[in-house]
Amino acid sequence: MDVKRCIENLRKNGFDAHLLEDIDDAKGMILRMCSPYQTFGIGGSDTIRSMNIVSELKRLGKTVYDHWIDGISKEEDLRIRLAQGRCDCFMCSANAITEEGEIVNVDGIGNRVSAICFGPKKVIIVSGINKIVPDLNSAIKRIKEIAAPLRAKSLGLNTPCVKTGKCSNCDSPQRICRITTILHKRPMLTDISVIIVNKEMGY
Ligand code: SF4
Repeated sequence: MDVKRCIENLRKNGFDAHLLEDIDDAKGMILRMCSPYQTFGIGGSDTIRSMNIVSELKRLGKTVYDHWIDGISKEEDLRIRLAQGRCDCFMCSANAITEEGEIVNVDGIGNRVSAICFGPKKVIIVSGINKIVPDLNSAIKRIKEIAAPLRAKSLGLNTPCVKTGKCSNCDSPQRICRITTILHKRPMLTDISVIIVNKEMGY
């Protein structure tokens, strides 16, 4: 995988892309980017949570819309997902980033992909190097063979991929793969930074 080429092409495609050597450096850069903003949306992302950014934002007195909270009602979950689309700064990871500089995500509900495209003033996408793939075909392959089965498993779903570890393009009512977005270029009205950490992070 060619991280340097990925960064160059992300920049060519209008993204503010950075490669950071470790999590502490990445966290420092992210928190500096966050400082002008007051309200934050956190997409379903293991990577962001593993960096303890959510607790740090709360400690700084920021308002955080995070739906990964045990025991919240359906109404509260919906309210938080809607607020993520209109916050100052939305943060999430990506399912795959190509060396051509494209960002690929698959969602079941769509709050993450819609917030990435339009709404928040600022979007910060954080990714480990394990999400970098050569091209769009490999991005879809990565999502079907790695990201989606692991995500379905982490949610305790009853989809075929949880048992087999592979995608069978299922018709399960619990199917999480319903919307695929490809950011070929930075969306016209959204300022997007991509922080790539030189480590394996998330799935
Ligand atoms: S389409 Fe179904 S089987 Fe395939 S990864 Fe998504 S949830 Fe799993």
